[in-house]
Amino acid sequence: MTVLADVDVRKLAELRGGAGPIVTCYLDVDGRHHARVEDCHIELDRALSAANGSVPPEDARRLRDHLSTLDRSNVRGVALFSGADDGIWAAVHLPIAVRSRVVVNNAPALAQLEAVLAESERVGLVLCDRQRARLLVFELGQVIEAVDVDDDLPRDVDTVGHRDHGEPTAHTEEMVAQHVRRVARRAFEVFEQRGVRHVVLGVPDALVAELESDLHPYVRERVRERTHLRVDTPAGELREYVLAAEHRFEATRTGALVDLLRQEVHRGGKGLAGLAASLEAVVDSRAEHLLVSEGYSDTGWHCATCGMLAAVGRSCPRCGSEMSAVPDVVEDVIDLALQHGCSVEVCPDAADLDVLGRIGVLLRF
Ligand SMILES: [Zn+2]
Repeated sequence: MTVLADVDVRKLAELRGGAGPIVTCYLDVDGRHHARVEDCHIELDRALSAANGSVPPEDARRLRDHLSTLDRSNVRGVALFSGADDGIWAAVHLPIAVRSRVVVNNAPALAQLEAVLAESERVGLVLCDRQRARLLVFELGQVIEAVDVDDDLPRDVDTVGHRDHGEPTAHTEEMVAQHVRRVARRAFEVFEQRGVRHVVLGVPDALVAELESDLHPYVRERVRERTHLRVDTPAGELREYVLAAEHRFEATRTGALVDLLRQEVHRGGKGLAGLAASLEAVVDSRAEHLLVSEGYSDTGWHCATCGMLAAVGRSCPRCGSEMSAVPDVVEDVIDLALQHGCSVEVCPDAADLDVLGRIGVLLRF
């Protein structure tokens, strides 16, 4: 199994069929939708029969075999790539559900996988009180690293900081300060090594200023939120919080790009909106970011002679050849953008992007 952290979408994007096609299979294997493995096979058969081309029997057999041996305990979606005639096989297991879809082409269809990975920016959570701390790194709502930093205070000092039985306050406070500095240092080591993009602090008010001043700039500039979560908050509650936070961070990032697109389009700058203009910019490798409203798909045209993608057919606007109709030109342009090194942002709840035609590009130049 390929874990998310190891997925190299660029390498997948370079795979090509030759002797035969490459079959891409996204499958919803979520136990909440498909309780039995037989239900997953029914889902696979449905996706195979709805595919845009015929799936070679050997590739279909590989997909079925993979499904039969799949451990679904932490897997809700799979992305499988099979080119039996060319010795190609790749499997990616995802902790979130995907939309079941089988595509037969000479290259992998990576749009959905890219959309999932784009949303998988890692979140670092600092839970800290006066003598204990937990540092957690999440990816797609899953804990991928957990580090405890415990510095026990003397027994006669309680954790709220009240002086008790004559323990010198100054001494206790210095021990707490040392603990906070250790937490800050470990947070930098762990989060930097794990490439954390967003940091959330679950720290009591009395400690937060001290902790923030001790944080390395790498961590401090990534702090997005403070939360009521504490060191002893149950894992399920942490996960729920982080999944929602991941969604907020992603929405903020894509929202900023959509804002920029709107401004650039209105001032006639480095932004183009709408299907036809976006297709042309991606085909010409002029796009730096491709922005697509979630759920948007549209029929279109592909020119086998010059590679053009177009909204209107059937004659190629570039070379005049006869183009062939494609069932989802949005999926095709997303795949092409990835091959060209263009970032792809699938934007949920993007009313501002919908107004612009549900698709747009920010240009490199
Ligand atoms: Zn053409």
